[in-house]
Amino acid sequence: MSIYTAKPYIDDKICNDVVSVLKSGMIAQGPKVRELEEKFSKKCGTKYCAAVNSGTAALHSALYAAGVGSGDEVITTPFTFVATANSILMVGAKPVFVDIDKKTFNLNPDEVEKKITDKTKAILPVHLYGLMADMEKINKIAKKYNLKVIEDAAQAHSAEIDKKKAGSMGDIGAFSFYATKNMMSAEGGLVTSNNQDYIEKIKSFRHHGQSPNKRYNYIDFGYNFRMTDIHAVIGLNQLEKLEEFNAIRIRNAKLYDEYLNEFEGVTTPYVPQGYRHVYHQYTIKIDYKVFGYSRAELINKLNSNDIYPAIFYPQSLHLIPTFKNDGYNDGDFPIAEEISGKVMSLPVHPAINESDIEKVYKVIKKI
Ligand SMILES: *Cc1c(COP(=O)(O)O)cnc(C)c1O
Repeated sequence: MSIYTAKPYIDDKICNDVVSVLKSGMIAQGPKVRELEEKFSKKCGTKYCAAVNSGTAALHSALYAAGVGSGDEVITTPFTFVATANSILMVGAKPVFVDIDKKTFNLNPDEVEKKITDKTKAILPVHLYGLMADMEKINKIAKKYNLKVIEDAAQAHSAEIDKKKAGSMGDIGAFSFYATKNMMSAEGGLVTSNNQDYIEKIKSFRHHGQSPNKRYNYIDFGYNFRMTDIHAVIGLNQLEKLEEFNAIRIRNAKLYDEYLNEFEGVTTPYVPQGYRHVYHQYTIKIDYKVFGYSRAELINKLNSNDIYPAIFYPQSLHLIPTFKNDGYNDGDFPIAEEISGKVMSLPVHPAINESDIEKVYKVIKKI
């Protein structure tokens, strides 16, 4: 059996629930979306919540609600999926990258202060691979300079720092329910906050700026970012299983840790004290000179054994055309550049079992 990087969980109950929604005739945004919002905010520990139709829309809406706009700057990491930085462009603002931490691969808070200018409006940390960024330090800086903090929690459903959940520690949290995430709704996203004004603004923004209480009363500008009840019912099923899914991811990661720690030149994921890593990805670092084989050789070997790891992400965003043309150069963010050349993510999702992990280990051992 092939071992892939991701495999969405779909059972009969999900299929039946989707059919029920279709048969009900209420197929656009309706009661299932509201139910998902209520249950997700409870899970996350935030007071308010708004569902949208993608993680990208969630980030875009969060930035809009926080008042980030044309001419503003937003400090973020270059080592993430491009949606993080693109969402900043969507509100007319400018992403200002800072380098990442060597061990966590998340935005390095110690690099943030020197990038703050009069135009800085917000910090947008990403909880990469399911490990939260250092929210305590980030919040402290934000408070000092009166900046908003928007968490990109697209990979971190139910990740924690000292029992506080991803999406509840900043001003606004943005989640993705894309098919491969820790919980999914095929496509979908959601915004969390303890600030009612932000969420009210987003509920209007996702619906062409109409008043959430009165149709054709255009109180603001907006988009069509509405989630459908068809997607919401998938999300509700997944939310019920989220802890079970995460527990399997964590168990799988532990097994990998035990197996892989014997290899010199292979660094397994670092988890700071008090953090709950939910392993959206299990990402190792290959130091070619010590390990003796390159990342590409290792991936080839795994592929030939029907195992398909992936690279998240092969390039730091400051080097892709969209942002490089903005004046960034090779060497600007040495850690992000180094790490993007060394990481690979091994299949860790809930459909992976102990013998799959043993198989991955044996292939690496043979090499
Ligand atoms: C998946 C992802 C997004 C975007 O979510 P979509 O639902 O695909 O739009 C944003 N940021 C990160 C870090 C992601 O992994």
